Amino acid sequence: MDNSVALVTGASKGIGREIARQLAAAGVTVYAGSHDAARGERAAGEIGGDARLLVLDVTSPASIAEAAGQVGVLDILISNAGISGDGKTADREDIGIFRRIYETNVVGVVAVTNAFLPALRRSAHPRIVNISSGTGSLAWATGPQFPHRGGYAAYRSSKAALNALTVYYAHALADDGIKVNALAPGLRRTDLNAAAAASDGDPAEAAAGAVRLALLPDDGPSGEFFSWDGTPVPW
Ligand code: NAP
Repeated sequence: MDNSVALVTGASKGIGREIARQLAAAGVTVYAGSHDAARGERAAGEIGGDARLLVLDVTSPASIAEAAGQVGVLDILISNAGISGDGKTADREDIGIFRRIYETNVVGVVAVTNAFLPALRRSAHPRIVNISSGTGSLAWATGPQFPHRGGYAAYRSSKAALNALTVYYAHALADDGIKVNALAPGLRRTDLNAAAAASDGDPAEAAAGAVRLALLPDDGPSGEFFSWDGTPVPW
């Protein structure tokens, strides 16, 4: 992976830090995105290899512009930064929570993607991986065994929107050779929410799925949704 350059948003901890660590271990130069400089600096040290802090708040246009100005060529963009909120159904949810979650999980991904497109277009093999969630799958949500029913409405609908954007970006960027895919990481032990924190899912396993999509060959898929283990997830 000599000379490849990646950006992982939300790399200060959790799945993002592990994706960054695995990419760095594969020889990729990794920009570890973090909206908190101190946490990001610490994470860059833990990631090792050629990892560099990139201060990046995905909800701040000024921060995004400043970060994009520091990256000339980008081979891999992993939009991982995300927030979860509470488990409420849509009818009980505070509208401000909806706005905050969409601002990070949806608008933030669009803003970061668009800002880094010039750098991605300078790559010979550009790849975008959106870290989504199986809870955003409408096929699974309407299936008989889905556990949450209407709960986590703000978070899950933000990931359904991210899934839609994955398809639209894949179509729009196909002529540029940019592959865009979404990953369902599975339930992982992170600070995302109480369910994640209580789980025994290893973030490294999810990160390996993201790295696989980041390093897809030129004849690999685009505009698709995969589980961490590489199996397709229905939209
Ligand atoms: P996490 O440990 O809470 O990590 C989230 C990361 O996003 C942190 O680095 C956080 O930075 C960053 N972040 C939040 N808001 C940001 C902003 N405005 N700008 C830049 N960075 C921001 O959670 P995680 O589980 O690793 O989540 C990573 C991704 O996986 C998310 O998109 C999540 O929806 C998805 N996912 C996770 C699970 C799971 O079970 N863990 C399941 C399905 C999907 P700070 O700490 O500095 O705020």
